[in-house]
Amino acid sequence: MKAYDDLIFDLSKKDRMGYTVDQTTLKDVMIPKHLLREKPALLPEVSELDVVRHYTNVSQKNFGIENGFYPLGSCTMKYNPKINDQLASLSGFANIHPLQPASSMQGLLKIYDHLQTMLSHITGMDAYSLNPFAGAHGELAGLMIIKAYHQKRKDSKRHIIIVPDSAHGTNPASATVCGFDVLEIKSNDDGTINLQALKEVLNDEIAGLMLTNPNTAGVFEKDIVEVSKLIHETGGLVYYDGANLNALLGHAKPGDMGFDITHLNLHKTFSTPHGGGGPGSGPVGVKQFLTNFLPTPHVKFDKEQYTFYHPKDSIGRLGSFYGNASVYIRAYVYILSLGRENLSDIGSFAVLNANYIQASLKDLFTLPIKKYAMHEFVFDGLINQSTGVKTLDIAKRLLDYGFHAPTIYFPLIFHQSMMIEPTEVESKETLDRFIDVMRKVANESVNQPELVKTAPHHTVVRRLDEVKAVRQPILKFSDIK
Ligand SMILES: *Cc1c(COP(=O)(O)O)cnc(C)c1O
Repeated sequence: MKAYDDLIFDLSKKDRMGYTVDQTTLKDVMIPKHLLREKPALLPEVSELDVVRHYTNVSQKNFGIENGFYPLGSCTMKYNPKINDQLASLSGFANIHPLQPASSMQGLLKIYDHLQTMLSHITGMDAYSLNPFAGAHGELAGLMIIKAYHQKRKDSKRHIIIVPDSAHGTNPASATVCGFDVLEIKSNDDGTINLQALKEVLNDEIAGLMLTNPNTAGVFEKDIVEVSKLIHETGGLVYYDGANLNALLGHAKPGDMGFDITHLNLHKTFSTPHGGGGPGSGPVGVKQFLTNFLPTPHVKFDKEQYTFYHPKDSIGRLGSFYGNASVYIRAYVYILSLGRENLSDIGSFAVLNANYIQASLKDLFTLPIKKYAMHEFVFDGLINQSTGVKTLDIAKRLLDYGFHAPTIYFPLIFHQSMMIEPTEVESKETLDRFIDVMRKVANESVNQPELVKTAPHHTVVRRLDEVKAVRQPILKFSDIK
């Protein structure tokens, strides 16, 4: 196989065409001369059939939730019901122009408003802004709110955000981008907050604490009310990284645990396709006393109609226009089509499925946290390490059996982490097949270790040189030698 046989440019033949623009529709279009290209763009010249075959073939080399089981921990790779896509692509939604006046898109704004309210009810917050474009962007928005809140109170000493060492990497990154100093505190052995370690660092320079609950090891922070109280007493705010909300749906609300600000990942918990860079959405929610700081524009119902308005002490604009409309519609359809009762089943089944896998494999894989899991759990590699097979090898071997690998080498608190999150959508048959394959790979690791160490053997590409890919990325067609 050629290294780059997948490039559509390789199919290009001079003057071959897939589509012809009707010149008469262009006769009134005037493009200023200085904006015109000097040379034609470097584009592949291909027929429509070439394009269809090319992308169909490429799509079949990929792996997604629609091909098979995708237990990627902390990513909540759940099935995205087709009705979400269908309704999001209705022309009344899909063809709205972002510069249309609010009066001409009342239906869409009603959905925004209603979705903001539903998210508030689900999480126990008082208001949401849908603006942020991703989870990490929601974190940034939340941290900007923390900063604005302290500044408004003229409490300018507070420059520290506390983050436990089990946190998702975006937490310290967002805090740093927002200009805070990050103070990492060591977790207990199960990844939960160590209250003693927390108490030792509290002072009047603490701006806030970021936490995901259940944490990335899938353990619920049982001391969360105490943690919130300690941070509040010291004058800081408590931020909820809500990317792990799936486990709590219908059972617990971050707003009741003392969190002041949350973000949610609509593209995880609320079922929008994700991976490969989006589009995503990370709405940020706040308690009443912070609503004036929400990003602008914000949608609300004002007397007779839905309008955009600018909260009084707003942290400002986070991007162009108003976020990713099609993601909001998908989340809205998802929530409404499940309804309140079925929504609360999500948490129960997500937790049941994770515990079923954990219990079925813990005789072969090291279980560092011997507790019931929430929506996900971590194995710390194989129990039998005699042949030197590592977590990376097992992840690669799973691909040969048609499963996506779990998240590996995260959380960092263990050395051979394998973080498994089945989500609520998988049937018992699928979970059983996965368990069988994991057991098979564990046996291969002892009896045919070379087979596992050189996996994958049956995928489109074999084991990649990940270091080279990071150090010498080829990002443009013209860079290919
Ligand atoms: C996915 C995730 C994030 C980041 O979300 P993005 O949309 O990828 O920016 C943050 N925290 C946790 C715990 C996550 O799982």
